[in-house]
Amino acid sequence: MAVEQTISIIKPDAVAKNVIGQIYSRFENAGLKIVAAKMVHLSQERAEGFYAVHKERPFFGDLVAFMTSGPVMVQVLEGENAVTKNRELMGATNPKNADAGTIRADFADSIDENAVHGSDSAENAAIEIAYFFGTDGLCPRTR
Ligand code: UDP
Repeated sequence: MAVEQTISIIKPDAVAKNVIGQIYSRFENAGLKIVAAKMVHLSQERAEGFYAVHKERPFFGDLVAFMTSGPVMVQVLEGENAVTKNRELMGATNPKNADAGTIRADFADSIDENAVHGSDSAENAAIEIAYFFGTDGLCPRTR
C-alpha cells in the first residue's frame, strides 16, 4: 500500500465544540501522522477559492458563510492509504447517514455543518495541500 498525504480540515462547528483533540486522536489511532497543521480564519476569498468546484451549487453561499464563521484547523495527514482512511474516519457527508463511531456521526449536526473536510482523491489532496501549505510547508517524519 502506498504512503499518501491528504488534507483534513476541522470546520468551524467542530472547532467551536472544542473537539480538535478528540478528532486528532482518531487520526493517530488509525495510524495517520500529522505532518503540517495550522489554525486559520478563512477570508471569504480564500473559502470561495477552496470550494471553487462547488460554485454553481445552490449551497455555495451558505457553505462559504459557514466556513468563514470562525477559525478552522487545517492539517496534512500522512500514512498508508491516507485519503481513503481519512474519508472512512469522517463518515458520510450527511451525518444522518454516517456510520456509528465516525467523526461526523459523533460531532456533526447537519449536512451543512458537518465537522470535517477531507480530500476525496490523491490528485485533489495535492492541490489542497498546495493551497494551504505551499510547496515547502510540510514536516516529514524522519524518526
Ligand atoms: N454541502 C452542503 N449541502 C449539501 C451538500 C454539501 O452544505 O447539500 C457542503 C458540506 O459542508 C460538504 C461540502 O459542501 O461537506 C462539500 O460537499 P461534498 O459533496 O464534496 O462532500 P464531502 O466531500 O465534504 O463529504
